[in-house]
Amino acid sequence: MPKTYEYIVSACLCGEKTRYDGKANTNEKIKQLVEEGKALPLCPEIEGGLPVPRHPCEIKNNKVINNIGVDKTADFLKGAEKTLQLCKKYKIKKAILKEKSPSCGSRFIYDGTFTGKLIPGQGITAKLLRENGIRVVSDEEF
Ligand code: SF4
Repeated sequence: MPKTYEYIVSACLCGEKTRYDGKANTNEKIKQLVEEGKALPLCPEIEGGLPVPRHPCEIKNNKVINNIGVDKTADFLKGAEKTLQLCKKYKIKKAILKEKSPSCGSRFIYDGTFTGKLIPGQGITAKLLRENGIRVVSDEEF
């Protein structure tokens, strides 16, 4: 019987230092799901081939642009697609993702001006997972 998980979760919520600035966003409750073998931790931006640390990115006009103006959309799409494939492989139907991220945000994202302003919206990975029937909730709702 192949391994299955109930959830896929943002790696940075489980203590992995995958954020653009090399930090984590540890949430003990979500970390525990991983320790119990119920959740698979994953960072879509790392899956997409981006390094740590990296320039912060925001979504503007359906493109992902970093703070020095370089279009990183292709890397983000690649990471989202790899995340979806892993969900399929492990038959995962639920995701708990970090709010506000241009990959993982599920209710709010930054507005693309790098001024800290949030707008309603979702990240590239959250969107693709939802389009494929995976229930996405944010760490703030879980
Ligand atoms: Fe965390 Fe998602 Fe950003 Fe990776 S892409 S650091 S998992 S919020």
